[in-house]
Amino acid sequence: MYPDKKITIAIDGYSSCGKSTLAKALAKRLGYIFIDSGAMYRGITLYCMRHQLILDGKPLIEKIEKILPQIKLTFIYNSSSEKHDLYLNDEDVEELIRMPDVASNVSPIATIKSVREKLVAEQQKMGEYGGIVMDGRDIGSIVFPNAELKLFVTASPEIRAERRLKELTQKGIDTTFKIVLANLLERDLIDSTRKESPLIQTKDALFIDTSNLTQAAQLQLSLKYANQVLESYSDKTNC
Ligand code: C5P
Repeated sequence: MYPDKKITIAIDGYSSCGKSTLAKALAKRLGYIFIDSGAMYRGITLYCMRHQLILDGKPLIEKIEKILPQIKLTFIYNSSSEKHDLYLNDEDVEELIRMPDVASNVSPIATIKSVREKLVAEQQKMGEYGGIVMDGRDIGSIVFPNAELKLFVTASPEIRAERRLKELTQKGIDTTFKIVLANLLERDLIDSTRKESPLIQTKDALFIDTSNLTQAAQLQLSLKYANQVLESYSDKTNC
């Protein structure tokens, strides 16, 4: 409808609130690239776990800083899932990074300044030409502060835990509602209270509570917001 303008869409929010599903669907409808920035933090976490750089849940920060240049993260399009899978030093780790042990270790890793600097620089490069939907925790505040559309998504903790449990169970991972809820509450706390780019709702972000919205309704609402932004550019062009 507005062929020339490709905007940047930043989607932030709490763990397991459905941001990635929404971001992927929105990107598909708009013909944009979708990037799940959380996958990149998970990739670094997996590398650190494999190299014994996390002891009793605590990252060995100095050692991690030294090995960061050895970590190469790339996204490669997977036509069956219609999304980009994460590769860690050329190994497809898309499944592995979704495992509960990575989820338990990722938030402490994401507090490390040098880790964030590396990933933010890579994310900004991916989005330099617009036409991207990226989801995460600091996308609207740090990665793309000038994004034309910012969404802040959440849902009640219980609903988020139920959705996450369903996803894990479908993958054959044995866990419980209590464990999943505890993990996401712990991640929310670390993510929103850390010193380096904590999760915040920026003043210009539109709030979406997905607790009682179907995926189709979330997509419809977000498309409405995106089209409003795009229309404002088409009005400017017509002036
Ligand atoms: O989005 P996802 O739940 O996969 O993210 C995993 C973790 O990565 C989050 O809990 C958070 O600690 C970290 N993260 C972050 N900044 C982002 C994306 C994810 O700190 N932009």
